[in-house]
Amino acid sequence: MIPYKHEPFTDFTNEDNKASLKKGFETIKKDFGSEYPLIINGERVLTDKKLASYNPAQKDEVIGQMSQAGEKEALDAMEVAKETFKEWRKSTFEFRSDVLFKAATIIRKRKFEFTALLVKEAGKPWKEADADTAEAIDFLEYYARQNIELKNGKPVVSRPGEKNRFDYIPLGVGLVISPWNFALAIMAGTTSAALVTGNTVLLKPSSKASVISYKFVEVLEEAGLPKGVVNFIPGSSREIGDLLVEHKDTAFVSFTGSRDVGVNIYEKAAIVQEGQINLKRVIAEMGGKDTIVVDSSADLDLAAEAIVTSAFAFSGQKCSACSRVIALEDIHDELLEKVVSLTKDLTIGNPEEDNFMGPVIDQASVEKIEKYLEIGKEEGKLEVGGTIDNETGHFVHPTVFSGLKHDDRVMQEEIFGPVVGFAKASNFTEAIEFANDTDYGLTGAVITKNREHQEEARRDFMVGNLYFNRGCTAAIVGYHPFGGFKMSGTDSKAGGPDYLTLHMQGKTSSEMF
Ligand code: GLU
Repeated sequence: MIPYKHEPFTDFTNEDNKASLKKGFETIKKDFGSEYPLIINGERVLTDKKLASYNPAQKDEVIGQMSQAGEKEALDAMEVAKETFKEWRKSTFEFRSDVLFKAATIIRKRKFEFTALLVKEAGKPWKEADADTAEAIDFLEYYARQNIELKNGKPVVSRPGEKNRFDYIPLGVGLVISPWNFALAIMAGTTSAALVTGNTVLLKPSSKASVISYKFVEVLEEAGLPKGVVNFIPGSSREIGDLLVEHKDTAFVSFTGSRDVGVNIYEKAAIVQEGQINLKRVIAEMGGKDTIVVDSSADLDLAAEAIVTSAFAFSGQKCSACSRVIALEDIHDELLEKVVSLTKDLTIGNPEEDNFMGPVIDQASVEKIEKYLEIGKEEGKLEVGGTIDNETGHFVHPTVFSGLKHDDRVMQEEIFGPVVGFAKASNFTEAIEFANDTDYGLTGAVITKNREHQEEARRDFMVGNLYFNRGCTAAIVGYHPFGGFKMSGTDSKAGGPDYLTLHMQGKTSSEMF
């Protein structure tokens, strides 16, 4: 097997690549406005209730009208998934991995089309959309290989006359609830991890970017996935999300999204329902309030670049995004000046035209960010940004606040937008204390040339993903297993060596000769 290596990013200064992406836009535009069905047991089910998925950069452009599953369809899908599990659990590890390998190849061939759709449906700038597509390919390639490694279980000790084995078997029906911010990558990653390990899946994608998930399920079908293994059921949390989380036959829930929803799922899944015979597992990847710490020895140009990229790429709509900077007093002002100056140079506009920043996802997001812009102005000093252009699309300008205390609200609450706050610390130990003083523990970065500071951070900075001398976003599958501590989730480490076993149970068998 070819060893795993991450999918290279596309160089868009190359004219051929630009032309290919333009062609991608042409291809996907032909389908704009189409109606999309649910997929249950391979069958297309159009429902009366539809929800428009639209381009957040151009609100009147409808990407697709997505059928919404109600209670009946959700329960039908559950029955199919239960029934299909009886056979799918017997499929070989190789068969399941091959479906993923093939799916990766299909997406690679149609890369520009998927990237174009992410630009249009999720409002991602080219570079970000390309990285999302590449990450989806990575998840498929990586999990396919990891799965093969689990084929013979893990070694256990045997004694004379006794042969012992430890194997991994699937759990059952998994409910995958995926986010809009990595509409292809995280949806493909969580779905493929669940199915490659022999489970059947109920996929409830985010309503804000559901067309791309439909296209992904089509890819799985083309790759040879038997019908009924993945059932595609977009629908509202209230109507079908809770119902399926609470369903007695749900074996696990794999959720990526906000803290509130994640906590709610965790609580609901813990309650044992009548007739339930398994304790449900929850894999949760929730929010972040991620800090970059900059000490006095740091290369301040590198620090400024890392902050701006981590805070504003994809408009700060990553749970890994940098939203807090803790800088030591003596370099604070110079760093702030550099960050403000870089921020002023960023281009914002329609992502189809390759701006650095595009829109935020929807009206609710605009309103939430607007609220925090007001809070920020009260708590600190607005250095740059703070404005919104919500006419044709949902554009929020990159915003920097200074003069904050580390425990101010804009420094504590997840905003999920292009807003970063600065606070000072008098020494490095205090900087790490301030960095740790949030409910979250997802990512963090330290910019330093001081190796003792680096080791102190490695020991004391409580984040699942800690980076040195770089930004705090852009984890690569297989290289930087991704997941957080505290209220950021169950530290499930997507794209890491332990991830697949979260979807499986270990079975010991012992034979006497
Ligand atoms: N894996 C992404 C990163 O490292 C973030 C994922 C997310 O926002 O959910 O930036």
